[in-house]
Amino acid sequence: MKFKYVCTNCRKVHETNEVIYLCSECGKNATATTPPVGILKVIYNYDKISKNFAEIAENQYIDLLPIRDIYSMPNLAIGNTPMYEYAFERYGEEITLFIKDDSQNPTYSFKDRASALVSAFAKEKEIDTIVAASTGNAGSSLAGICAAQQQKAIIYVPKSAPIAKLTQIKMYGAKLVTVDGNYDKAFDLSIEAGNKNGWYNRNTAYNPLTIEGKKTVAFEIYQQLEGNLPNRIFVPVGDGVIISGVYKGFEDLLKIGIIDKMPIIVAVQAEGSKNLISNIDNDEFIVEPSNTIADSISVDIPRNFYMTRNFIKEYNGEILQVSDKEILNASKALSETTGLFAEPAAAAAFAGFMTYLNEDIAEHESKNLVLLTGSGLKDLAAVQELIAE
Ligand SMILES: *Cc1c(COP(=O)(O)O)cnc(C)c1O
Repeated sequence: MKFKYVCTNCRKVHETNEVIYLCSECGKNATATTPPVGILKVIYNYDKISKNFAEIAENQYIDLLPIRDIYSMPNLAIGNTPMYEYAFERYGEEITLFIKDDSQNPTYSFKDRASALVSAFAKEKEIDTIVAASTGNAGSSLAGICAAQQQKAIIYVPKSAPIAKLTQIKMYGAKLVTVDGNYDKAFDLSIEAGNKNGWYNRNTAYNPLTIEGKKTVAFEIYQQLEGNLPNRIFVPVGDGVIISGVYKGFEDLLKIGIIDKMPIIVAVQAEGSKNLISNIDNDEFIVEPSNTIADSISVDIPRNFYMTRNFIKEYNGEILQVSDKEILNASKALSETTGLFAEPAAAAAFAGFMTYLNEDIAEHESKNLVLLTGSGLKDLAAVQELIAE
C-alpha cells in the first residue's frame, strides 16, 4: 500500500484505502470541554521515495499524496502560490522576510489545499457528496472546489460568519446550512448528517486528509527557496491544521532525507483565542471562550490540539500571541508596505513577525517567512474601524 495511517495518540497503525476518520482504537470526538482524541497522521514508505526533490516536484508531489492520480485534483490552480522576498535593516541586522501568499488560491484562502485533496480522494472513491462544518473559509473553499469537480457540497456554518464567505458558498451552488450556535455545534451537526446520509466529511483534522492537503505548502517553500529554508516560519493558528500541515510537509522531507533540520515554526494565536497556547503544558485541557476579530482563528476547542502540541514539542516550535489591535495594525502595515491585503487571521501571522522585529531581532535569526492564509476581501467589516474618516 502507498500509505498508512498512524494514530497521534495511541500509535495504532491503520492500513486501509477506504474512508477513515478518527482512530478505531482510541478515537473520540471533541466535547464542549475537550479536543478530539485519535487524529490520524498519514505515513508513506519513505525509504522507497526518491531523495531527488526535483523529481518529486516534477510529478506534482503525487508520491507523497494519498491519492492514485494527480488528475483527480480539481481543474483549478491550487497552491503554487506566489512567494515574495523583502530585505531591510533593523538594529544593524540584515533582515529577510518572505511572504507566501496563499490568498491567491481559487477561493482566496489556504483551505483550498485541503479541500482539493479531500475532493480528489472522494472522486477516486466515487463519492459525490461532501459535507463540512466551517467558520467560513473551509466551507467556501469546499463549495468552490466541489463546483469545479461536479460534486455536491453541504456546508454547516455558524450564522455569524462574514457575509463574503457565506456569499461564496451560495454562489458556488453548495447547500448552506446556517447554524444557530457556534462552530462546535456546526461540527457535531455535520458529522451527524454525514453519518446518516453517507456523505464524505471534510471537517478539519477529523478528516486526516485535510492535514495532508495542507502540507504541500512546505514542499513549495522548499522548492521556491531552492532548499534554503528560512529560520522562522510564522503561521496563524486556530484548529492547528495549517501549522500541522507545515510541520508534516517538512517532516516528510526529513524522513526521506531531503532536509536535515526542521525550521523553527512559530504558532501565532490571537490573544482572545489562544486555547492552544494556554494549554500547551496542561495535563487537562481548560477552555477559555474565544473572542477575536480574526474569525478564522477564533476557536474554543482546537480540533488538532494534540497533533499540533506534539509537533511543537518535538521540533522546538515557538508560540506567540497577538492582540486584536496588533492584528489590525499589522493588516494596515502589510497592505501599505507590500500591496497585500490579508484577512485578520492571516494578518495575525504578520503581527507575530512584527512582534519579533520590535523585540531585539539580533537575538533571533534573520530569515523569516510569513504565511498569508486568506484574502482581506473576505472580511471587510473587520477593518472598517481602521479606515473610518
Ligand atoms: C483556517 C484558517 C486559519 C487557521 O488554520 P487552522 O488550521 O484552523 O489552525 C488561518 N487563517 C485563515 C485565513 C484560515 O482560513
